[in-house]
Amino acid sequence: MHEIELKARAKINLTLDVVGKRPDGYHEVEMIMQTVNLYDYITIRKMRAPGIKLKTDLKWLPEDERNLAYKAAKLMVETYNIDQGILIELKKRIPVAAGLAGGSSDAAAVFVGLNTLFDLNLQKTDLMDLGVKLGADIPYCILTGTALAQGIGERLTKLPPMPFCHVVIAKPPISVSTAHVYKSLNLEEISFHPNTEEVIEGIKKRDLRKIAKNLGNVLESVTIKEHPIIEEIKNTLVEYGALGSLMSGSGPSVFGLFENSKDAQAAAKELRLHSKAKDIFVTTIFNRERV
Ligand code: ATP
Repeated sequence: MHEIELKARAKINLTLDVVGKRPDGYHEVEMIMQTVNLYDYITIRKMRAPGIKLKTDLKWLPEDERNLAYKAAKLMVETYNIDQGILIELKKRIPVAAGLAGGSSDAAAVFVGLNTLFDLNLQKTDLMDLGVKLGADIPYCILTGTALAQGIGERLTKLPPMPFCHVVIAKPPISVSTAHVYKSLNLEEISFHPNTEEVIEGIKKRDLRKIAKNLGNVLESVTIKEHPIIEEIKNTLVEYGALGSLMSGSGPSVFGLFENSKDAQAAAKELRLHSKAKDIFVTTIFNRERV
């Protein structure tokens, strides 16, 4: 095999709870993660000339060691002594710094892709152990599907696939810093914690309404105060038929879960009409496991 093409899919958080703070300053989280069918395209090609080369279609995205896709390739090359050159082409479709784990998913796709391209025969768990060195969300992005993430996000328990539904994802034209959001969160002052158990129950019973009713993200208490547009988008999604809506990760992206695609399209149209969000996608949840 000379070349491999992969889809690096985004994730949304059905729940995000902060349950403690470790002595090293990291927050302990409990999150239900779900992969969606919004993806970056990645092509990895073997090259004659040695070394790693990355090309992206976003002018301002770094193509060197600052890029997670590059970092993942470098870690694989060094760990498994790959001496052949590699060219990675990355077409970004997932909004950057949006709470959708785009960078982590690109890195995950590079780990998976190089494993196949160079016949390394590594288990998914080997790749996940390597991935966590670059970021807490990367093991989940290698696993994909519906999962409970604990610890700093790296301790994963696979859940049964959540029932199929349509998803509208909207990123308002603001930027939020993940570090700032976590720093501004006062653990003692969190008045509402999501009911993670109820969502897991909903997933097990394949009850989309139960899942949607119990979506929750403690980080909204910080971001919505600073950016009311997040609440406005949530309200519009629900007004137009979402069974539930939530901010994903540390934001600013918001998503809504829909039973039918007509409502999802109408909600997206309304958001576009009023320019409430910059990037708006109508997609679906994704649950087939990556090999
Ligand atoms: P998370 O939900 O895990 O916090 P995110 O969706 O908020 O992630 P990313 O899109 O992964 O954020 O990007 C976060 C930062 O990482 C950006 O500032 C960006 O410059 C940098 N970055 C490095 N590599 C990539 C990549 N391949 N794609 C996107 N961003 C990248």
